[in-house]
Amino acid sequence: MAATLSVRQFFQRFPDEEACLAHVMEVRHGLRHVCRACSKEATFHRITGRKAFACAQCGDHVYPSAGTIFQDSRTPLQLWFYAIFLFVTTRHGVSSRELQRQLGVTLKTAWRMGHKIRELTGRADMKVMLNGHVEIDETYVGGRANREQAFKSKTIVMGLKKRGGRLHTEVIPNTKMTTFEGVVTRQVYEGSTISTDEHLSYGLLNVSPFKHETVNHGSKEYARGEVHVNSVESFWRIFKLSIASTHIHISKKHFDSYLREFTFRSNHRARENAMFDLLVASL
Ligand SMILES: [Zn+2]
Repeated sequence: MAATLSVRQFFQRFPDEEACLAHVMEVRHGLRHVCRACSKEATFHRITGRKAFACAQCGDHVYPSAGTIFQDSRTPLQLWFYAIFLFVTTRHGVSSRELQRQLGVTLKTAWRMGHKIRELTGRADMKVMLNGHVEIDETYVGGRANREQAFKSKTIVMGLKKRGGRLHTEVIPNTKMTTFEGVVTRQVYEGSTISTDEHLSYGLLNVSPFKHETVNHGSKEYARGEVHVNSVESFWRIFKLSIASTHIHISKKHFDSYLREFTFRSNHRARENAMFDLLVASL
């Protein structure tokens, strides 16, 4: 299957509710799997009039949407799927207004759907530690224009990216040494090489079980061979631009979910089909 998904392919694959329900069944349980009731490997058939499948051996019913974000929703599955499609195929994120316009639902519904899907992106992303050569950088995002309040109202985000691999991001409460150290020891394997800028709090990494290299941004040094934090910085640029263009104001409460969404998209770029199924399956 192709890595990317066009609108045309989307509607060929998911022409109606039936096709969508079958897909949820397929990615979550499999149309043929070992039945939890009779323990036999069985084919599961659609039951007319219910959103369920039945075991060909014993007749046990499986509701593929049970426990998912679709479970109690009156919104058709195909609309949920299309919303997920927009999330995985849009580089710069999807605003509630955009969902409202494309899906023809109310703004309130669009907003709720967007948040449910963002929650999924957080859960779907792999929770695997980083190794090899890891770039680490932090940035300040958002906040008020007012100078006195600006610093306090900004959110500090830390980014760790394995070269050629996964990006991990998280909001941190402050830029103290212990905070940086906590994140690094949780997310990076000992013995990995780490690139950072010259920020004081990264000094601690010299005495830790990491091989630590720094570039001195203060002296306008941005890269010294392999030593740089350019990949994380380019993520910051996309993230900040997208926030500025699609989400006028993000409360601290919802910041995490936007950050997860963008991190997820960055990690799975150019693998839209895989990303789509991962979202449908991770519930
Ligand atoms: Zn059975």
